[in-house]
Order: sequence, then structure tokens, then C-alpha cells
Amino acid sequence: MERESIEYDVVVVGGGPSGLASACKLKQLNPNLSVCLLEKGAEIGSHILSGAVFEPKTLFDLFPEDAKTVQHLKPLLPKTTFTGLLTITKV
Ligand SMILES: Cc1cc2nc3c(=O)[nH]c(=O)nc-3n(C[C@H](O)[C@H](O)[C@H](O)COP(=O)(O)OP(=O)(O)OC[C@H]3O[C@@H](n4cnc5c(N)ncnc54)[C@H](O)[C@@H]3O)c2cc1C
Repeated sequence: MERESIEYDVVVVGGGPSGLASACKLKQLNPNLSVCLLEKGAEIGSHILSGAVFEPKTLFDLFPEDAKTVQHLKPLLPKTTFTGLLTITKV
């Protein structure tokens, strides 16, 4: 049986926030790098954030240009305090 194979410089396993950020950062650092992102879920993001609480700093660090256009999101974010297993959210 003949199997098809494709070579990549980097293979990132898992299309969650970590894998997606890693793949994006690698391409930012070197656009010529061939990066393959493998996700076992039906689609990218199928196992992603679902609690509707989102800290955007890391996203803004990764995409600083986009951060300028979505600054208006900041005031909408609730102030959240993490205390052990409890999450207190003030809107
Ligand atoms: C119910 C719930 C609600 C949450 N809500 C929030 C929230 O509101 N805000 C927040 O900031 N965080 C939230 N979190 C936490 C957040 O989901 C995790 O911190 C985040 O997903 C971790 O990202 P990650 O990329 O490290 O891992 P994951 O998101 O788990 O990504 C790993 C990915 O790798 C894939 N994978 C695993 N093994 C393989 C394999 N062998 N081959 C291919 N693919 C593979 C998985 O399918 C998955 O998509 C929540 C978590 C849960 C469970």
C-alpha cells in the first residue's frame, strides 16, 4: 500500500489556543516556514473556550495591529477575581 506523505518544518499537535498561538507565532517569525497544525476534533476550535470569559492580552500581544481596532472590547470585559475554585465576576 502506498502512503502519501508531506514534509513540514514544524508540526503542531492540537488546535487549541496554545497550538494556534504557536503556529501563528512561528509564521510571524518566519513566513517561509511550513507549519502543519493537526487537530483531532471535527474542526479547529471545537474544543476551545466556552465559559465566555476572555482575557485578550495574549491575543493582543500576538496580533498588535488588530489590537488597535478592537480596543473598544476592553470596557465590556468584566473584572474577574480568581479565588481558588471560585470565580467572582463584577460587570
Ligand atoms: C468548560 C470549560 C470552559 C472554559 N472556559 C474558559 C473561558 O471562558 N475562558 C478561558 O480563558 N478559558 C476557559 N477554559 C479553559 C480553556 O479552555 C483552556 O485553558 C484552553 O483551552 C487551553 O488551551 P490549550 O491549547 O492548552 O489546550 P486545548 O484547548 O485543550 O487544546 C488542545 C487541542 O489538542 C487537540 N488534541 C489533543 N490530542 C491530539 C492529538 N493526538 N492529535 C490531534 N489533536 C489533538 C484537542 O482536540 C484540542 O483541540 C475553559 C475550559 C473548559 C473545560
